[in-house]
Amino acid sequence: ASFAALGLSPALLKAARELGFEAPTAVQAAAIPAALAGRDVLASAQTGSGKTAAFAFPVLQQVERQNGQAAAGAARHPQVLVLVPTRELAAQAGALLRAAARCLAVSVRVSILYGGVSINPQLMGLRGGADIVVATPGRLLDVVEHNGLSLAALRCLVLDEADRLLDAGFAEELARVLALLPAQRQNLLFSATFPASVQALSEQLLHDPLRVEI
Ligand code: AMP
Repeated sequence: ASFAALGLSPALLKAARELGFEAPTAVQAAAIPAALAGRDVLASAQTGSGKTAAFAFPVLQQVERQNGQAAAGAARHPQVLVLVPTRELAAQAGALLRAAARCLAVSVRVSILYGGVSINPQLMGLRGGADIVVATPGRLLDVVEHNGLSLAALRCLVLDEADRLLDAGFAEELARVLALLPAQRQNLLFSATFPASVQALSEQLLHDPLRVEI
């Protein structure tokens, strides 16, 4: 298979080339066409499988299309929220999204929010608006409480490493974040393992998902 066969726009094909990705990985080949078509996706995917680009490319293509139609200077509320369990994953996913976004003809703003550092620079960074927010749940809730972010315009939720998002006392924060999101949205869930907690979450969130097992 090739990236071109998956339905990606010319700008995203260029991004894949510039990142040195010659052919899609298995999770990318399965998830990208479904995500581009607006379907929910439930993917079992480990770190190293290429799962980050499997959600990053289709969400960027959706934002590219949306921002291409938006009036110049229109306020930017996040269209996509990527929830991750750790600062390292936030940095990794944010870096790939920003690198690929540089190939697009429209500007796409990616904000990266995680705890353990001062919230003020993150709040400042959000003032110009954001199209895609990559965040750990606790810091996202802090930012929302500081009135730094409205999630009312969200159209797509990505859960990266959902099993770890439900670990270590995160489950309550995750539930509080989910309660803030518009009900009408696309959901892309990636997890390395599928304990009962992840199965329950996927049943709660996903509508007729494409199941990807690799
Ligand atoms: P991930 O599973 O998303 O953490 O990705 C693991 C590594 O594979 C990262 O270093 C990616 O840059 C790289 N990668 C992702 N997709 C591809 C691809 N289609 N071809 C080559 N490398 C890739």
